[in-house]
Amino acid sequence: MQFIQPISSLIPSRPGGIEAEKMDKRKVKSYRDRLLARREGLVGQVEAAEMYSRERDSEATQDPADMAANAYTKELLVSMSANDRKLLELIDEALDRIEEGEYGECVHCGEPVQEKRLEAVPWARHCLRCQDLQERGLLTEDEE
Ligand SMILES: [Zn+2]
Repeated sequence: MQFIQPISSLIPSRPGGIEAEKMDKRKVKSYRDRLLARREGLVGQVEAAEMYSRERDSEATQDPADMAANAYTKELLVSMSANDRKLLELIDEALDRIEEGEYGECVHCGEPVQEKRLEAVPWARHCLRCQDLQERGLLTEDEE
């Protein structure tokens, strides 16, 4: 007697069990394009901001008013790029999910994320229900 391993056991099964309905490939592609465009804009912006602040640093400014303005601009750039970096992270995660074929699923419960929500926020990680829980601090993140 020969033991034949069933094919299905060779394919790593996804946790959760219930397979969410897959999103239309063309639709995924359009979200992907939007994510990439947003990413490009963001990366360009962050790079420009960093270049600008480096440039300002290397200038020996003597005028105190100018220096104050510089400090303010720098602060603005720093806080802006922190937000941008976070957004960049979310966009990269969304692009990863597209690669994995998991785009459009809530990272928490695996339910499909409402399309209206993806239209507005293509990098959304959660469905509305989980997002609401998270905003109220009730969602226990199971980060990888
Ligand atoms: Zn969810």
